[in-house]
Amino acid sequence: MSDSELWQDVRRYLRQRIEAGEQVVLLPAATRDAAAAAHPQPDHEAPAAAPPDPRAVTPAAAPVTTTATTVAPDDSLERIAAEVSACTRCRLHETRTRAVPGVGPHDAGLVVVGEGPGAEEDQQGLPFVGRAGQLLTKILAAVQFQRADVFITNIVKCRPPGNRDPEPDEVAACEPYLRRQLQLLQPAVICALGRHAGATLTGHAVSMAALRNGEHRYEGIRVFPTYHPAALLRNPQWKRPVWEDIQKVRAAHDAGRETGAARRAPNG
Ligand code: URA
Ligand code: SF4
Repeated sequence: MSDSELWQDVRRYLRQRIEAGEQVVLLPAATRDAAAAAHPQPDHEAPAAAPPDPRAVTPAAAPVTTTATTVAPDDSLERIAAEVSACTRCRLHETRTRAVPGVGPHDAGLVVVGEGPGAEEDQQGLPFVGRAGQLLTKILAAVQFQRADVFITNIVKCRPPGNRDPEPDEVAACEPYLRRQLQLLQPAVICALGRHAGATLTGHAVSMAALRNGEHRYEGIRVFPTYHPAALLRNPQWKRPVWEDIQKVRAAHDAGRETGAARRAPNG
């Protein structure tokens, strides 16, 4: 029996049950995700009233729906990195040496998002390897984050020439990559470095002082904007607010991890 024939059978079956006065419950996406997590088979949960072979009901390539958006079942950080490296979606590809997709472990609890690669990053294809990057490593270490445990990336993955600000159309072209990375990583917390990353991830194009005072989420993940380390190098008076922010990041990370662990292992 083909997939479409099966679908027709399922539809007919459900219609009959509804006509017979039954409550046929179609699981909402979030419930389905939870059920799928509880049953680690590769197939999806079928509707409650499915006929005997539920495995064939949902085509294997059907996207998994999360609360906000859609993750393709075969998406991966490696795949995104490969796409970014070959990307020509915006004019920044014309002037880049190397695209900078981002680096870090798949299970990172913290994702740091900068604005865009600088000259050094453009040469190496790695984020935050210049002077600002060295300061970032120190800021993370101040609250016991090993840089290697953090996923580090940027709003735009290619260097804006002369380190100019990314244009809105460039941000819009590149943001889907970041969105996919975050959907896959599902970190406990995001730290947005600088006003541009802060504005993109919170949706509020306001001052850093204003951004720091708000509660923000991106794709459901808590976002903490703070001053960019490059700006901090020029403005040492921002050390204290950055110190306060990174401590908040640490606390939210630890709280988020505990809740996540409790969800994954309800009995232990
Ligand atoms: N500044 C950024 O915003 N990102 C980098 O990767 C390096 C410097
Ligand atoms: Fe593609 Fe982003 Fe690079 Fe533009 S900045 S070319 S959208 S990877």
